[in-house]
Amino acid sequence: MRPLQQPANYDLTFETVNGISYYISKHLLEGHGILVTFTTRIGGVSRAPYSSLNLAFHVGDDPELVLENREIVCNLFGLEPARIVCAEQVHSNEVAIVTKRDIGKGALSLGGTIKGVDALVTDQRMIPLSLYFADCVPVILVELQKRIVSVIHGGWRGIYGNIIGNAAKTVVSLWPEHPAELLAFIGPSIGDCCFQVGEDLARTFSKRFRNSESWLHGDRIDLREIARMQLVESGVPAPNIYACEDCCTSCHNDSFFSYRADGGTTGRQAAMAAILRKPNSQVANRQ
Ligand SMILES: [Zn+2]
Repeated sequence: MRPLQQPANYDLTFETVNGISYYISKHLLEGHGILVTFTTRIGGVSRAPYSSLNLAFHVGDDPELVLENREIVCNLFGLEPARIVCAEQVHSNEVAIVTKRDIGKGALSLGGTIKGVDALVTDQRMIPLSLYFADCVPVILVELQKRIVSVIHGGWRGIYGNIIGNAAKTVVSLWPEHPAELLAFIGPSIGDCCFQVGEDLARTFSKRFRNSESWLHGDRIDLREIARMQLVESGVPAPNIYACEDCCTSCHNDSFFSYRADGGTTGRQAAMAAILRKPNSQVANRQ
């Protein structure tokens, strides 16, 4: 009798290499050649209030230092910083499919980002998708068979507008004739421990989302839990959703940029995904 196949474990682990700390799914990288990573504020060259691994141009940091930080991160993973593709991130629910024509959009300056969108999707190799965060929920989707990745900016407005579902739909649209094999990763973001909201927002969310007992705790909203619900509704099996642990950006402000904890002026950590190389079948099958 054949042994039952154990499901693969794509857990995020916390790593520190050359003074840079980040979360990564090691098994996904080793087995499938797909990079999924969430950076922290640890490492890099930016000074206060952007200290020190600020990866975003739009926050007022010295652009030369941002470029240096992006280079430091890209070097860890064998990526070229000039090929990064970025979204404008306007709290919309719009998604862009990234092709070779988009390589480098937003890589070297703020102006070049893909406009009006908060999620990027690609099935092309060596095009790193990179979005930036300081409390909002970063979500990365991976389709394992066709090898598609998506990076999603899940602020409360985007989550309300179902940016996660829209991105998942776009991923599946690139591979419509087959059942998608979706994985999802949820990165560092403000937890329900710290995301206090006003009554109006709590009421608006309660009208929009069911099961409020699972995501509304007094005057605090658990955005990550809502993101999880939306992922499941979008076809990601619950066991395929991996989240970093103990990674509230506000509670752990020494490790993460937090818009709320830092009083508005701060840097941004990145959620990055890239299809690096063909899968390593030996490692991929070692489940
Ligand atoms: Zn917290």
